[in-house]
Amino acid sequence: MSKGVVCRRLQGRTAVVTGAGSGIGLATVRRLASEGANVVCGDIDPVAGAAAAEEVGGTFVRADVTDEVDVSALFQVAFDVHGSVDVAFNNAGISPPDDDSILITGLDAWRRVQEVNLTSVYLCCKAAIPYMRRQRRGSIINTASFVARMGAATSQISYTASKGGVLALSRELGVQFARDGIRVNALCPGPVNTPLLQELFAKDPERAQRRLVHIPVGRFAEAEELAAAVAFLASDDSSFVNATDFLVDGGVSAAYVTPV
Ligand code: NAD
Repeated sequence: MSKGVVCRRLQGRTAVVTGAGSGIGLATVRRLASEGANVVCGDIDPVAGAAAAEEVGGTFVRADVTDEVDVSALFQVAFDVHGSVDVAFNNAGISPPDDDSILITGLDAWRRVQEVNLTSVYLCCKAAIPYMRRQRRGSIINTASFVARMGAATSQISYTASKGGVLALSRELGVQFARDGIRVNALCPGPVNTPLLQELFAKDPERAQRRLVHIPVGRFAEAEELAAAVAFLASDDSSFVNATDFLVDGGVSAAYVTPV
């Protein structure tokens, strides 16, 4: 958003954000609150999650997104406190180092990533949709990744497969519930400039360069740029955007030869 412009597209709406304590989730908590939403912050990390909620005058619910009881409680709190569930940003995800090439990745690592990145989205959508159907209104945004659309020789096999699942699940739900007034979109971020990424690439500049060369705009995204896209998808400005793979990747997935 350009400086000085105040957008209040989410005034009075209630938004649940998972993975609210860090990165894209935290930037989105700030953005949705700045647009007038009541934000309910879900995170497994009680310190970071509570800090995010406190900063915006929101509500924190400690929730492990792989746990059905926790997820159900998260959406129940949103409804009980605010009387509606208008937006669900199902964003929590992990990318652990033991998820690597298919030749290396063990079954436990594979399953853990599927649980946190894909089963969690199933659970969150399953919890959110009944509230939204009753209201006949809702916007669900599930975080996938540009790697669900492209092949990477620097593989994280379970991560990629889990995000492919998020795309298919989001598309199907967007179609199934469209006439209930519910839109479901998958957000596909390109690589984002997070503290983890900075640390990794500071140690290994060649690793950063290997990726940067594929990005037409020549830099990684900032978390706030993803948050702006989520705010658009959450708001009525995107009322005809449904069941999409919403790419916010600086053109990575469209590029063959990039500018030098
Ligand atoms: P991050 O690591 O900065 O934040 C993730 C948050 O999720 C943390 O607060 C963490 O505590 C929480 N979390 C982890 N496991 C959880 C669980 N089981 N239950 C509840 N909360 C849990 O991550 P990020 O970089 O902001 O990524 C957010 C999403 O965006 C993820 O789904 C990720 O796969 C996706 N993504 C990130 C990038 C990137 O470059 N950072 C690119 C594409 C997609």
